Amino acid sequence: MLRKNFFSSNTHPYAMGVACDSILTKAWLEWEPKSIYQGLVELGYDMVDEVNAGKLGAYRTSVKTVLPWTDWFSFEHVINAFNSEIVTFDKHQPCKVKYLMAGVDTLRLCQQIQFGDEVKRYIASCAKNAELLFLPDPLTFCMKYLCRPKYKCNDCGNTDYDDLSDGRCDLCVGRYEDGILKDQPQKGLEDRGLNITRFEEYDYFPVANKFDALKQLSSDKITLGLNQLDVQIAKLLDMHYYRKEMRDRLQENLQEVKHAGINII
Ligand SMILES: [Zn+2]
Repeated sequence: MLRKNFFSSNTHPYAMGVACDSILTKAWLEWEPKSIYQGLVELGYDMVDEVNAGKLGAYRTSVKTVLPWTDWFSFEHVINAFNSEIVTFDKHQPCKVKYLMAGVDTLRLCQQIQFGDEVKRYIASCAKNAELLFLPDPLTFCMKYLCRPKYKCNDCGNTDYDDLSDGRCDLCVGRYEDGILKDQPQKGLEDRGLNITRFEEYDYFPVANKFDALKQLSSDKITLGLNQLDVQIAKLLDMHYYRKEMRDRLQENLQEVKHAGINII
């Protein structure tokens, strides 16, 4: 048996989930929450508290459905619950970016699914709220929603977001004639608008590079200043350490499961 408070302490949500899969059999995924808590008590474990009930609920949602990958509201709830926040189901509680990092790691253990645009935009908006210029692993896939690609037309001087379907300047091919978007270039303008230069909204490489160089060092070896770059790095390192702490906790908890003679199924 695991320690009595395994399901009522600071345990990683994925370790709790896989332990339940084995202890209660996979049937628990369909049980009423009360039956789950009662079932664990009958096996000698402490009563599941509110925070850990949230983690178990988020685990079940993440192995049974694709909602956390497609629906931003569901994604937000699951991520907050995975990170020990008490979730109020009818309320919007924007996620901390460090929660997103650790939470996306956990979701990927539950199922390997690509995130939908809606969720990617949500992640980028959380990063914007935190005034971040760069999203580190495992959130880098949302960078184009945070730092949007743009283009400049070298013929007419138009600068716009790079959402071009055919790689041609919107103005030069008359795509927005009379303010209405047309799906194709105007007649006679089809061969124009290709002389464009693509660029990023801003240059985040100095942040990305410095963060990459420092993240492997232990924190007592890092000295940062108060300039904009270092303020970004300090935030990223803080998030990175939190993610690492969660990963270490998961490994430790999975070892506990193994040592208790429980097979992970
Ligand atoms: Zn143009």
